[in-house]
Amino acid sequence: MLQYPNLEQALKYHFGYDQFRPGQRQIIEDALQNRDLLIVMPTGGGKSLCFQLPALLKKGLTVVVSPLIALMQDQVEALRNNNISATFLNSSLNPYKVRSREEAILNGKVKLLYVAPERLLSERFLPFLDLVKEKIGIAAFAIDEAHCVSEWGHDFRPEYRQMKSLRKRYPNIPTLALTATATDRVRTDIIQQLGLKQPSIHIASFNRQNLYYEVRSKTKSAYAELLELVRENEGSAIIYCLTRKKVDELTFKLQNDQISALSYHAGLGDEERSNNQTRFIRDDVRVMVATIAFGMGINKPDVRLVIHFDLPRNLESYYQESGRAGRDSEPSRCTLFFSFSDIKTIEWSINQKTDPQEQLISKQQLRQVIDYAEGTVCRRTIQLGYFGERFPGNCGNCDNCRYPKPLQDWTIEAMKFLSCVARCKERFGMLHIIDVLRGGKNQKITQNEHDKLSTYGIGKDKTVDEWRMLARSLLHQGLLEQTSDGYSVLKLNALSWEVMRRQRTVSLAVPIAQKITWEEGSEKAAEAEILLQRLRSLRKQLADEQSVPPYVIFHDSTLKLMTQVQPKTITEFSKLSGVGSHKLAQYGEKFLAEIKAYRQEQGSQEQVKSTPFLGSPSDTELFTLQLYQQGLNVAEISQKRNIRATTIIRHLADLIEKDQPVDLNQLVPLERQKHIWQVLEAVGDISLTPIRDQLGESYSYDEIRLVRGKWRRENRK
Ligand code: ADP
Ligand code: ZN
Repeated sequence: MLQYPNLEQALKYHFGYDQFRPGQRQIIEDALQNRDLLIVMPTGGGKSLCFQLPALLKKGLTVVVSPLIALMQDQVEALRNNNISATFLNSSLNPYKVRSREEAILNGKVKLLYVAPERLLSERFLPFLDLVKEKIGIAAFAIDEAHCVSEWGHDFRPEYRQMKSLRKRYPNIPTLALTATATDRVRTDIIQQLGLKQPSIHIASFNRQNLYYEVRSKTKSAYAELLELVRENEGSAIIYCLTRKKVDELTFKLQNDQISALSYHAGLGDEERSNNQTRFIRDDVRVMVATIAFGMGINKPDVRLVIHFDLPRNLESYYQESGRAGRDSEPSRCTLFFSFSDIKTIEWSINQKTDPQEQLISKQQLRQVIDYAEGTVCRRTIQLGYFGERFPGNCGNCDNCRYPKPLQDWTIEAMKFLSCVARCKERFGMLHIIDVLRGGKNQKITQNEHDKLSTYGIGKDKTVDEWRMLARSLLHQGLLEQTSDGYSVLKLNALSWEVMRRQRTVSLAVPIAQKITWEEGSEKAAEAEILLQRLRSLRKQLADEQSVPPYVIFHDSTLKLMTQVQPKTITEFSKLSGVGSHKLAQYGEKFLAEIKAYRQEQGSQEQVKSTPFLGSPSDTELFTLQLYQQGLNVAEISQKRNIRATTIIRHLADLIEKDQPVDLNQLVPLERQKHIWQVLEAVGDISLTPIRDQLGESYSYDEIRLVRGKWRRENRK
């Protein structure tokens, strides 16, 4: 401990990071004082470091209890890549390996030992631990996923219960408990069950600032939106669906659209499942379409997008599942698609439950999810409120804060709707009322003679979805009731009558059509992108050589820093966050060489660009052209080069502009070219966004960019 002037230096030396995350420093100081600790931090908060760094600074062995074998292996791999002597003992090892690892431990060669709880407490293992304690000392026990000890938690494991006997056997060895579960009850249970002694308790905020939360309505164009999200958000993505069938269908569709995607659900064989998981973690495949069976124990820090294509069961699950995005603190996106028919499906399955208590809880949970999805205030305020954390709102990083929905006066429509409920004698559900309002012609209407009502057909000017939105909002605002007997019959209350008597107005937060914030990158950003891609390829190659996931080599954030700083010397390189002493020695020169090569190419391109003639294509563009001429389409080129499709489009557009043999007609249908051309003639060469605004959503940026290439070429002549 004395060999480091301060903790920051130790952090940099072993892990390469410049700063502690919130809470980490204080926790580590407490751990170094040998205090018992309860650490509650959200996923991605950086819990592991809280016992890993002290383990390196203290004498003896730190024993880490971890429930999942895959998780153990991941952590040990990552530690070894920082040259930290860590190992694990579990049922996957043969006796010979176990013996040799035990020997290494007894020789003091290991700082961190990961074990599963059942092994820890086995009759053979405890005497071994006694020996370790005597010979080299035990620095601490770290109990990861400590909520498993609690029956109130969501993954209770009976083996964890016996951990208390550990405390009895080694009363003076400090114990750290770590969890991401936020509820009070579980926390108290952990302290009790593990016998923590006057623990220092650290509860971090559950606000995940780097995550952008949004809710979209699941309309007919939902799949197209999903596809766009997947295409526009670079990096790994998880898409959750409710059932295996939906998972397989969606995977199939995505694959058809040239997205590299695989399925994960309990219906697949063990081997296929674990293969798919490995391919995802190693960045061999970009998108994992999964049921909620996927995710527990996935440590992948660079998931950039988590989409819930179906409604989650409750807010806590939503928080945890969406929280698998952006563990590395880089900006990431969490999108929830929400539809009324999903609610119906879930309501139906709740009504199948036989235990009334269970039914009640599920209904309440569903209610909370709906409140979140339909809410017009800051999404964080709703989520964090659920965990008992107050958040003032205006986060600037959710859809409601960025694009507040304008309030509109819908009093007249509300009056129409409510009086239709009254005329139908409060005996029907929402869909029927809407049918009547819109002048439907089905049997239910004629049988009940509802086509004779004065409200029949008076609401043709609004779509079914709009009426539904109004009805949901009326329910929300308490201006209308709904029976909970499974039939959801609409009932009026005193407030409904106030509306009908014009004593009360009704405003509605109307969603505006959501667009993906698609900022057209400046030339510089596009260049940085090319370097980033090259560094990614290098990282992938190094990772494959060692059979580890790419993030074990360097995190995305560190690669980004490399593109920003573009270090020239090994000293400059060593200063980047994420570059520790060991990684510097292992990979420094290789990455520097790649950056240097890139700069040299750029330099020679600069000269080309400064000529007054049309620029000649760059190397990377020529490579794309070559593949294009071999007959590969955009998706295939993108896959082959491991570059985003949008970047390939950029290349093609520039190639067209530079009068290279790329046939625009093969890429954009003539009719659409004509339209785009007209707008370009009218508005001139401005950025893509306003051009697209003119053209409408059915036109993609890609098409516009390609046509603009030709337009520029023609206008330059
Ligand atoms: P948790 O277990 O809380 O979900 P992890 O311990 O896996 O989180 O940490 C999440 C990610 O953050 C890891 O990739 C880790 O390397 C990184 N990390 C942890 N501490 C820091 C830090 N001080 N600076 C930068 N990155 C960090
Ligand atoms: Zn917000």
